[in-house]
Parts: sequence; structure tokens; C-alpha cells
Amino acid sequence: MGLIFVETLPGPKVFKCKLCKVDSASLDAIISKDFHGRYGRAYLFKTVVNISLGPNEDREFLTGRHTVNDIYCSSCQQILGWRYEKAYDEGQKYKEGMFILEKAMLMKAGW
Ligand SMILES: [Zn+2]
Repeated sequence: MGLIFVETLPGPKVFKCKLCKVDSASLDAIISKDFHGRYGRAYLFKTVVNISLGPNEDREFLTGRHTVNDIYCSSCQQILGWRYEKAYDEGQKYKEGMFILEKAMLMKAGW
């Protein structure tokens, strides 16, 4: 087994990977709760921790074409959501560099 560096968020309200329970994102980092992922509701975060990124992929959303990377938990490799690398629509540019985490892949800790 290799060593895995796990970052711990200060909290108190933190979202964790549902599978392996490492911290994924702080409640304070939520930009919007009004997103939809592959498995239902999803949240937009400005920062997340303990993730690794997949390759760039172009995807069509209801809001237009985006270049995204899938996000995996760096501890258990479970897919958690995706990161917006580039938005083609001017009105969607604010999402660039931000992260979608699927509610179904998270557990809440601290509230
Ligand atoms: Zn995990």
C-alpha cells in the first residue's frame, strides 16, 4: 500500500466521501445547491480536497458545452462529480475552476 496524504478540513460542517469518509468539501465552500448530477442533486463548490482529476472531456449540459474533468476521491477512487475546466457559453464562465460534487456520493459530518 502506498501512503495517502489526507487533508482534513477545519469544519465544523464538512461533506465527506460516503464510501471511505475522508473530507471532501467544507459547507462554507458551497456556491450553489441547485445543480443536477448523474445521480440527482449536486452541489457547486469553489474548493474541494482529497480528489484526483480525470482527463479533459467535452460534455453537453442543459447550459451548453463545457470541458470538464471527472473528480475521484483520492483515497478510495470513488467518482464524486466533476470539475468545470472551461465553459463555452459566456454566461456560464463563472463555473470555470469550480467543482460539482454529487449529493449521493457524500455524507454530512458536523450537523
Ligand atoms: Zn473516498
